[in-house]
Amino acid sequence: MEIDKPTTIMCTVVAIDDTNLCYKVCSVCERALPHDKVSCKYCNFNNPCSITSSSKRLFRVLMSIATETKVFVVIMFDRAARVLFGCSADEFFDFAKTHPYAATTAGRALEGEMLTVTLSKPKNGNAQHLRVVSVVPLRSGFQPAIEIMRELYQVRSVS
Ligand SMILES: [Zn+2]
Repeated sequence: MEIDKPTTIMCTVVAIDDTNLCYKVCSVCERALPHDKVSCKYCNFNNPCSITSSSKRLFRVLMSIATETKVFVVIMFDRAARVLFGCSADEFFDFAKTHPYAATTAGRALEGEMLTVTLSKPKNGNAQHLRVVSVVPLRSGFQPAIEIMRELYQVRSVS
């Protein structure tokens, strides 16, 4: 799909790539960290005396969606993905540690959901997917993935 300015469309979730739902960033500046690193070279470089910065996870989700006319893949970052997952990427990751199929289950749970999404052109010219700026589930009984999984796995919410 080609768009010039942010566009809001109605769509259905066809599939979610559950193999790689999140990535590690520096907890201070939110720059992506290489896989093997837990501290950020920028923050540690700028504040050599401060405590070593730590890492956290943010969602980065590839999702295939269908409109009336076509099916295509979009990328969804943390703020939008939280709406569908119902928790932070760290919470999700912790949940997935004790429930190894959580990512697959979450993806399946969201398949078929009707959404209103606002898409924008990626700022980075090399990025190949349109980016989801915001997402609103249309179904009145919509439950985020983490809620569905807590029910499924009988995990009591501690909040
Ligand atoms: Zn940093």
